[in-house]
Amino acid sequence: MKAAVLTAPRALQIDDRAAPSVGPDDVLLRVHTCGVCGTDSHIFQGEFLVKFPVVPGHEVSGSVEEVGENVTHVRPGDPVTVDPNIHCGVCRFCRAGKINLCENLTAVGVNRDGGFAGYCRAPAKQVLKLPENVSLEAGAFAEPLACCLHGLDRARFEPGMSVLILGGGSIGQQMLQLVKTGGARQVVLSEPMENRRQLALACGADHVIDPLHENAIKAMREATGGGADLTIECVGRPQTVEQAVKSTLRGGTVLLFGVSGPEDLAKIHPYEVFLHELTIVGSFINPFTQSRAIEALAAGRFDPSKIISHRYPVAGFGEALEQSRSRDAVKVVVQPAKEEAGRD
Ligand SMILES: [Zn+2]
Ligand SMILES: [Zn+2]
Repeated sequence: MKAAVLTAPRALQIDDRAAPSVGPDDVLLRVHTCGVCGTDSHIFQGEFLVKFPVVPGHEVSGSVEEVGENVTHVRPGDPVTVDPNIHCGVCRFCRAGKINLCENLTAVGVNRDGGFAGYCRAPAKQVLKLPENVSLEAGAFAEPLACCLHGLDRARFEPGMSVLILGGGSIGQQMLQLVKTGGARQVVLSEPMENRRQLALACGADHVIDPLHENAIKAMREATGGGADLTIECVGRPQTVEQAVKSTLRGGTVLLFGVSGPEDLAKIHPYEVFLHELTIVGSFINPFTQSRAIEALAAGRFDPSKIISHRYPVAGFGEALEQSRSRDAVKVVVQPAKEEAGRD
């Protein structure tokens, strides 16, 4: 199989190697789709607890090729997706049910080989079967959608809320579709790129804002009738964090979802948080939400074809990674079947 391998920070090579062999509790997938995510750029730079060499890729779907002898819940040929985040089960956070805060968290595509390859091995308990009406391409979105659903849980999202989303990249667009189909009364999205604003409108945003050409906070407040009940920051920059706090209605909630740099600092007026009874919450990965993400896909709450902008073969992973950071990309995916077929 072809595999995209990171051997050290910023050192990528495309290997030809044998597919991994399965242990008694493993599943081997023939990869159909693996999404390129912002996290992959961080992994490429050697951030997070990456273990080199590694095949990155944690948003994986495929069909089961082989199962270990103890595996009973999926069979060869089944369409599946992977929950990449593996908790230890014995630390105090796991014991308290907060598995995403596990002290010994490992992840497929971070510190064990992931999905930017022809085949991917995963522990069987991390593998979820896809229903018939969810395509393999859509199945690769189960993980990022599961992260979004956990964020919406943390923010206590409810139907009838007005929602402001900062950032119209892949995650902002997924949040948009989820809150829209989840009964938001109004959804406003702020994004500097014209193509992403147009996409947001096509996906049901009631109003879009260009934060570079308008007084952003004023425009956001006006568009939401004084401020949003829920503001979702999907950029991860100090400036947008500050905008998020300033654009939230009294009694409202700010969800910090974008991944900031570890050294970033944002300025917030504590007086405003006090006076307006703001709730500011963080959200990390996907504890117990991946099945719900699959249900959301089955119910048609999210259409991946609207946001996939580029598809690459495994051999094009370097280009895919670069493209994912470019202006015209929204979501870039890798599909091993494209190895012979070329790309689009
Ligand atoms: Zn991701
Ligand atoms: Zn643990």
